[in-house]
Amino acid sequence: MLKRIYTALFCCGLIAPGWAQDVAIVIHGGAGTILKANMTPEREAAYVAALQEAVQTGYKLLKDGAKGEEAVVAAIQVMETSPLFNAGIGAVYTFEGQHELDASIMHGGTLNAGAVAGVKTIRSPIAAALAVMEQSPHVMLSGKGAEAFAESIGMKPVKNTLFNTERRYKALLKAKERILNANVPYGGQQGNERFGTVGAVVLDQYGNLVAGTSTGGMTAKRFGRIGDSPVIGAGTYADNESCAVSATGHGEYFIRYHVAADICSRMKYRNDTLADAANTVINDVLVKAEGDGGIIAVDAKGNIAAVFNTAGMYRAQIDTQGNLKVGIYQQWINE
Ligand code: ASP
Repeated sequence: MLKRIYTALFCCGLIAPGWAQDVAIVIHGGAGTILKANMTPEREAAYVAALQEAVQTGYKLLKDGAKGEEAVVAAIQVMETSPLFNAGIGAVYTFEGQHELDASIMHGGTLNAGAVAGVKTIRSPIAAALAVMEQSPHVMLSGKGAEAFAESIGMKPVKNTLFNTERRYKALLKAKERILNANVPYGGQQGNERFGTVGAVVLDQYGNLVAGTSTGGMTAKRFGRIGDSPVIGAGTYADNESCAVSATGHGEYFIRYHVAADICSRMKYRNDTLADAANTVINDVLVKAEGDGGIIAVDAKGNIAAVFNTAGMYRAQIDTQGNLKVGIYQQWINE
């Protein structure tokens, strides 16, 4: 309550920004069958370094008094720029051999949100999502409309081939083989060929919770397929009265079970703790539905959750005490 009064006074300019509450940040770089047995030490070190850079970039901004949305975008952009993750450069391929990117962001104080879906020429989809939130009357723009909007506000379009990587191309060839051999429309069930969606959730100095997610979607998805990542309530949700959530996993399930919003609702209406709400949705509701994936979340007190029902989830966090943790497999690496 006191924090809300402070935040209101601060926002109205009635107190100096000298007052600052503890900040916290959690990021993810995707969940899936991530096994140590399939990882080289060099590759593991590269992931740890990239996750650390992303979380520290966001944390520094939060400590310096940046708004939550700036920290979320900056942390995600580190991962959108790295070929290690399925977002921006390193995004997976569609069945047709292109990249269609999705992203969204939500502010828990205003409940304002922005998203772009199926974009091919926007270098940083998360920045475009923020622009939709701040500079348009809409929540979600898709395809050419989103690209035209991004250009209209000064984002220079890039070639779709900018997002090409050899590793993802090989994954496409493998997925296509499975799909073409399946002999059912669109190859039947989605295979296990996607990792690396990225996301960030923060609690900023002003008591605001913000969540963001960015992805290339799922390998060999059909053109026009939109996953959960740009869908507010499914892949991303934030509400200062409960928590901020960013998800990663089999998007169709995350949409059908409105995963991010469900976790927040359980806190808000049932008074569940963040840990209980996140555990129930990921390890009970989704497991029963056979939907694989995970979430990261932070609540208004700075409690953190990083929960997944897959073998691993790339993740990192810095809590309100400033403690940094990085994880890839079940256990945190540096605990
Ligand atoms: N959730 C993403 C999608 O379905 C993929 C992922 O998180 O790996 O598009």
